[in-house]
Amino acid sequence: AKSKGGHNYQFFNESMNRNAVRRLQVENQLRQALRNNHLRVVYQPKVSLTNFNYVGVEALARLQIPGVGMMSPIEFIPLAEETGLIIEMGEQVLRQTCRDMRHWLEQGHELGRVAVNLSAKQFLQPDLTQRILTILAEEQVSPHALELEITEGVVMDDPEHAITIMTELNQHGIQLALDDFGTGYSSLAYLKRFPIQTLKIDKTFVDDINAAERDRNMVASIVAMAHNLGLNVVAEGVVNHDQAATLSRLNCEYAQGYLFAKPLSSDALLEQLNAPALI
Ligand code: C2E
Ligand code: CA
Ligand code: CA
Ligand code: CA
Repeated sequence: AKSKGGHNYQFFNESMNRNAVRRLQVENQLRQALRNNHLRVVYQPKVSLTNFNYVGVEALARLQIPGVGMMSPIEFIPLAEETGLIIEMGEQVLRQTCRDMRHWLEQGHELGRVAVNLSAKQFLQPDLTQRILTILAEEQVSPHALELEITEGVVMDDPEHAITIMTELNQHGIQLALDDFGTGYSSLAYLKRFPIQTLKIDKTFVDDINAAERDRNMVASIVAMAHNLGLNVVAEGVVNHDQAATLSRLNCEYAQGYLFAKPLSSDALLEQLNAPALI
């Protein structure tokens, strides 16, 4: 038993080592990508469930690693948060998004509001609003064209502070969405007080919306509550027609998901918009 334990220990050590090496690797790749302008932004359309028109897009970060390809944010966002690199990354994403927005306008496309994800560390910056307004002004994009997606976890960490920042952003015309709703621990008391305009229902509720009555009832309740609070509702991760039909029946008006469109490069998005039939 003792030798087996020793073996296990060594294995544990090696895998910890591999993990540490991997983390260092990703951190270096992230630093280089930020320095060398290898950060990419892709855009996933949001559609109306009534007429399937595009009503906006969400900007999603990608890392272009030379010789390797695209790295998913699932892999680099947590590390970016830990190292603080997320602040520089988030600002680069916002700047690139603004540039693409101007390009779409110049090509004659009005894509509705464009949503950018905000990280916990960014949200804690005391001068967040000013930093965002500066980038918008430099890139000549109106604050009214921007929406920020913030997760429940981020705002519930210090809800009173969150309300102050959110109110400030709102006063400048920037809209706010509560992301991944249902996976965190928002209290209803705060939900009422947050100056948000949109709730995004997390994919985990949408996954089983037809298979599980409980999930369907949850979504129905969230939609009803959101509407009572005067909020828009977007369902995330819609992959089939049955889910879209059920969401529509439950009065959810907007959705995002592979059924409608995957995240697309700015050019691919324009190509889709120029194509004769959308869906
Ligand atoms: P999120 O904000 O909840 O974004 C939705 C994620 O679900 C995206 O993954 C999107 O590609 C994916 N998705 C959309 N529709 C479907 C679908 O029908 N099926 C499935 N299986 N997935 C779908 P992605 O792009 O890998 O991003 C993952 C997470 O990384 C995001 O989750 C967000 O929390 C974070 N993230 C991405 N870009 C940024 C960024 O610029 N800044 C910050 N702070 N976080 C970001
Ligand atoms: Ca999001
Ligand atoms: Ca989400
Ligand atoms: Ca998510």
